[in-house]
Amino acid sequence: MSYKISDACVGCGACARMCPVEAIDLKDNKMMIDESKCIECGVCAGVCPVGAPNID
Ligand code: SF4
Ligand code: SF4
Repeated sequence: MSYKISDACVGCGACARMCPVEAIDLKDNKMMIDESKCIECGVCAGVCPVGAPNID
């Protein structure tokens, strides 16, 4: 289990700046969460203006 970023993402970068374990990065022009790093803290979901990160 890990958070995932949906297509609603507008690429603002707020989640990547706030993630405590630096699990979020641009990949092929999309924000992606590295599932092996994510600790499911929910910070990305909290800062995202469009609600793109969700737990699956
Ligand atoms: Fe980073 Fe937490 Fe979001 Fe996982 S849930 S990607 S650890 S901010
Ligand atoms: Fe995308 Fe939301 Fe992250 Fe901004 S905070 S880059 S809109 S997932």
